[in-house]
Amino acid sequence: MAFQIPRGTQDILPGEVEKWQFIEEKAKDICRRFQYREIRTPVFEHTELFLRGVGDTTDIVQKEMYTFLDRKERSLTLRPEGTASVVRSYVENKLYSDPNQPTKLFYIGPMFRYERPQQGRYRQFVQFGVEAIGSNDPAIDAEVISLAIEFYKSLGLKSLKLVINSLGDRDSRIAHRDALIRHFEPQIDEFCSDCKERLEKNPLRILDCKKDRDHELMKTAPAILQYLNDESSSYFSKVKQYLTDLGIDYVVDSGLVRGLDYYNHTAFEIMSEAKGFGSITTLCGGGRYNGLVEDIGGPDMPGIGFALSIERLLAALEAEKIQLPLEQSIDCYVVALGEQAENRAVTLLHECRKSGLAAEKDYQNRKLKGQFKAADRLHAKFVIVMGDDELQKGVANVKEMATGEQLEVSLNELVSYIQNKS
Ligand code: ATP
Ligand code: MG
Repeated sequence: MAFQIPRGTQDILPGEVEKWQFIEEKAKDICRRFQYREIRTPVFEHTELFLRGVGDTTDIVQKEMYTFLDRKERSLTLRPEGTASVVRSYVENKLYSDPNQPTKLFYIGPMFRYERPQQGRYRQFVQFGVEAIGSNDPAIDAEVISLAIEFYKSLGLKSLKLVINSLGDRDSRIAHRDALIRHFEPQIDEFCSDCKERLEKNPLRILDCKKDRDHELMKTAPAILQYLNDESSSYFSKVKQYLTDLGIDYVVDSGLVRGLDYYNHTAFEIMSEAKGFGSITTLCGGGRYNGLVEDIGGPDMPGIGFALSIERLLAALEAEKIQLPLEQSIDCYVVALGEQAENRAVTLLHECRKSGLAAEKDYQNRKLKGQFKAADRLHAKFVIVMGDDELQKGVANVKEMATGEQLEVSLNELVSYIQNKS
């Protein structure tokens, strides 16, 4: 019987996986520079966490969760996103009592959503995200945004567009909510069943509806920015000023409503504007979530973060035709001819590897020519040829593949010879 991979998932094979490793290293390096530390949480959590933390009017909770009962009939869910888990862990481990505040964390790992698979949309995908919890300084909003932008730029992306909005604080949102209800209520019958439900629960989410996006009332809907109170508006101005100071271009879109229920104040998305990028152009989404920590049972601590998927990042790199500078070569390939040389090759190979060289030999009984071909396929910088004759003399023939230069090198000095030259 032949098995097939589940829909919406993918195998990442050697050849492709190097890109992922490169990107993950970049993410870790940028987090080191910005001083965000890694956190690893389980891939499943109690379902209740996501109902609470993501919000029950979201697409994620309503349609996309992989929820199952374990053998003790507990409802568990494969994590659809990272923030709820990070905040759960932050509260459970009392990270707020650490003297280093704000708590700045990052994660990279698989997320699971039952979605209709298409380009840029998978059922298992990898998110890199950061969270800064415990500060209400607009400078940290700018820091989080600039981290995402720097990350993309460090990988070579150029056609990026940063869109920001403010969803305001609680009071601003209540005023806006009332205006939205007044706006949509008279014609709510013309909207999808989800929107009908959202009208009472969270009318802001109607603006993010994918089915009704062309309805005339969408264009004329009251904009949150007009409902910001002075405090919210001044907070937003400071965030924008910091972005300008950092030389980060942005556009304000008062229609930007993020998918999750818990956002307030700053909301942002980074899109790819590359030609040839599919219809789904959002690479990264994030925002402020003051109130979430308290909802999850912790103290009243503000937070802000973003999440982006590696899958969409790879698609953006492809659309901009960017080749990542991946190391594809190995340091040396050991070719052995004759039985004794073969035995010595095994120990020589091990010496190379212990000294930090990437080294390989033949295990397929190939002839000389076949071994050279194998060395070529691996892009070996040096090929070490050892026959029984050389072995007697305690030397090997070393060929530098780039120049074709060949030299007899004593076996004792071989490792340091290659180390010095490569
Ligand atoms: P969308 O509107 O595209 O469904 P979303 O609002 O559900 O996005 P978020 O929950 O904010 O997305 O996730 C943040 C980022 O994670 C997105 O900007 C995108 O890069 C990525 N992402 C979300 N869902 C998927 C998926 N199914 N496959 C791959 N990447 C995804
Ligand atoms: Mg989605």
